[in-house]
Amino acid sequence: VESGSQKGWVASWLIKKKNYNSKSAGRLAEATIVLDPGHGGVDSGTQASNGAMEKTYTLRTALKVYKLLKAKNVHVIMTRHTNKPVALASRPALSNRVKANIYISFHFNSAGEQYAAEGYEVFKYHH
Ligand SMILES: [Zn+2]
Repeated sequence: VESGSQKGWVASWLIKKKNYNSKSAGRLAEATIVLDPGHGGVDSGTQASNGAMEKTYTLRTALKVYKLLKAKNVHVIMTRHTNKPVALASRPALSNRVKANIYISFHFNSAGEQYAAEGYEVFKYHH
């Protein structure tokens, strides 16, 4: 964009484009990322051995990632910012509506035995 003698750039996600292809958005600043803190409200998720609820950790983690991405000017959208319930179907619906390049749902799974679980799981969907 140009204004007078000044030139600048505007991220493509700020401009409404017809037939925008989300797959062509290669750079992080042009990507739309949806962060989904799992559970929320009356849906507490699993419970840690210290009594803390999964929904607390998913929100806390997603908010940290949100701030880091925002600092890098990434177009990032949260399914929830507070401890409120969000219907399961509305989470991916939001992601589809905004044509997200990446959708990340945060969860902290439990194990049947204390200290039996470690590491992380990543589930990916390719289409
Ligand atoms: Zn969960």
